[in-house]
Amino acid sequence: MSVTADQQAQIDAARGSPRQTLRAVSDGIEQHLYRVHPVLDHGFVRVIDYMGDDSAICQAARVSYGRGTRSVQNDEGLIRYLMRHWHSTPFEMCEIKLHVKLPVFVARQWIRHRTANVNEYSARYSILDREFYVPDPSALAAQSTTNNQGRGAVLEGDRAQRVLDILRQDADRAYDHYEEMLDENGLNLARELARMNLPASIYTQWYWKTDLHNLFHFLRLRADPHAQMEIRAYADSVCAIVADWVPAAWSAFRDYRLGGTTLSARGMDCLHRMLRGEGVTQETSGMSAGEWREFSAVWMKDTA
Ligand SMILES: Cc1cc2nc3c(=O)[nH]c(=O)nc-3n(C[C@H](O)[C@H](O)[C@H](O)COP(=O)(O)OP(=O)(O)OC[C@H]3O[C@@H](n4cnc5c(N)ncnc54)[C@H](O)[C@@H]3O)c2cc1C
Repeated sequence: MSVTADQQAQIDAARGSPRQTLRAVSDGIEQHLYRVHPVLDHGFVRVIDYMGDDSAICQAARVSYGRGTRSVQNDEGLIRYLMRHWHSTPFEMCEIKLHVKLPVFVARQWIRHRTANVNEYSARYSILDREFYVPDPSALAAQSTTNNQGRGAVLEGDRAQRVLDILRQDADRAYDHYEEMLDENGLNLARELARMNLPASIYTQWYWKTDLHNLFHFLRLRADPHAQMEIRAYADSVCAIVADWVPAAWSAFRDYRLGGTTLSARGMDCLHRMLRGEGVTQETSGMSAGEWREFSAVWMKDTA
């Protein structure tokens, strides 16, 4: 269960008392407000609040372009133009506030994104729940042999079972000790100290607020296939929300950033030579083996 009965009651109450407003409303994201989107085994993402929609981006952009500029008048076209030319400030006019429940090791990656406002559950003040992330067996993989930061083949049979046993037993043992240290009639250790031995798989929660420009930056890095699967699961969930919130901005982001690529000057030179019919190889490209592999993956994507 990712939300408590209390949280569910709050969600029901919030959804049960809609109000009229003069503010810009995005119908697409209204359906997500307060709803729980489960992620991993006990985690979730839910939208607490938002500001702006696709029109808010265009409204802000037109302040800089003025009324005389008609060439980029169409909203969708304007948003694509802004995204293409890295004119990013209009995207900062939209904001979103999320409530996220996530394992601590995922939170450590997430918190590196500094351009957001965060308020986290306090384990000095409150007692953490006995909730630990245990990967689905399909996500238990060996260390990659080609990527130091990645996974290789999925673990099978006894090896997978042994890993699951270790994860569950260690987490339970650590939590039993946590409770023992907290016991007011026993060791009565302060909460801020008793939490020290808890593993990074334990769940924490926070409110996270950011603007659309910085959210796109976060999603470009964390919804990327190179991101760790666990944080990618959260990023994918947020992507689905953003697609409903600001469909035109999402479409431009997906086209130019998520699905697009950048080429170095050397890469451009190789591409020009190849288009002229030259058989460019890594040796004649001037690129390192890793660079060449990544470059080749871009233009060989559909021919592989
Ligand atoms: C696949 C992957 C692997 C990673 N591996 C590691 C790792 O091994 N070790 C590690 O420590 N981190 C690692 N990171 C984290 C990474 O280095 C960044 O810290 C993280 O992605 C946040 O990016 P950011 O700083 O651009 O984002 P934000 O903090 O949201 O900042 C957004 C932008 O604002 C600007 N900005 C924000 N703060 C400052 C500042 N103080 N000074 C100047 N400009 C600023 C920058 O332009 C920045 O790009 C990894 C990230 C990814 C995606």
